Amino acid sequence: RKGNVIITGASSGLGLATAKALSETGEWHVIMACRNFLKAERAAKSVGMAKENYTIMHLDLASLDSVRQFVDSYKKSGRPLDVLVCNAAVYLPTAKEPTYTAEGFELSVGTNHLGHFLLARLLLDDLKESDYPSKRLIIVGSITGNTNTLAGNVPPKANLGDLRGLAGGLNGVASSPMIDGGEFDGAKAYKDSKVCNMLTMQEFHRRYHEETGVTFASLYPGCIAETGLFREHIPLFRLLFPPFQKYITKGYVSEEEAGLRLAQVVSDPSLTKSGVYWSWNKNSASFENQLSEEASDPEKARKVWEVSEKLVGLA
Ligand code: NDP
Repeated sequence: RKGNVIITGASSGLGLATAKALSETGEWHVIMACRNFLKAERAAKSVGMAKENYTIMHLDLASLDSVRQFVDSYKKSGRPLDVLVCNAAVYLPTAKEPTYTAEGFELSVGTNHLGHFLLARLLLDDLKESDYPSKRLIIVGSITGNTNTLAGNVPPKANLGDLRGLAGGLNGVASSPMIDGGEFDGAKAYKDSKVCNMLTMQEFHRRYHEETGVTFASLYPGCIAETGLFREHIPLFRLLFPPFQKYITKGYVSEEEAGLRLAQVVSDPSLTKSGVYWSWNKNSASFENQLSEEASDPEKARKVWEVSEKLVGLA
């Protein structure tokens, strides 16, 4: 049978490129988990995906009710689940004030981390039950949350501190909207959310790899300077960022190439190692990369896991 892969945020950028790449192999049925049904349908058509290779399902990660409804509908569909890709994200670098999810969590961490955390937890059993040769849970990470890299050292740097804001619910009322309890900063909130994504993947690995046989992985696909991620940025930035990445940092990767990389982490029979953060070198060969001290701190991973469980109502 074909493999079934759920990709969140498959209506643009990396998610769409990955959906396209996997659907073209003829070996995958892609479930595009998107907040905007019409946009997703148009996107799938625009890249020429054949109807029989995908299904669009509604998912708004900024609402935990929506996450639960999505999981219910998926389970009811009776389709086995072989791979889950947590890809969707929002990035609000120019926001002056925080905005919030349905439950009142700051939007970047609420969407990118907490929404995915609940989704992945609720679908873990389905992955476990899959009889597919290699079942995987993939969370898209980023270099920007990694302070052991040049890109990760551009201020404001990621820093989760002692998690006091997260523990307080990130609601801007009883607690700060930032994980570390500091002043709101949209760019930092995004980087912090990516650190949470990478910590979550490792904590899943430690808790569940042996028991479930699921491969847990994260990746940095390269700088995809033209995706919608930068839509909130000032126009001059959007004009200069792609050539800067192409010619100066040389970290630039096209959407298509990045999609092939993520598709590799989904389906390549040689990438079955669990607990790995994948990156690619200039020749587009994958390698196991090192995470920063904070993004690989097991104690912090455990704490983020436990606090997040409480916030999403699992503990
Ligand atoms: P895009 O903005 O193009 O794609 C993000 C996707 O997330 C969109 O499909 C968007 O939906 C979806 N999304 C946003 N909010 C929600 C929500 N509440 N519920 C459901 N879906 C939502 O950005 P990219 O393709 O660049 O980003 C994809 C991933 O790659 C992210 O995890 C990002 O952190 C990561 N990444 C990107 C890099 C880059 O250079 N671009 C580098 C490293 C990592 P909609 O279409 O409706 O807006």
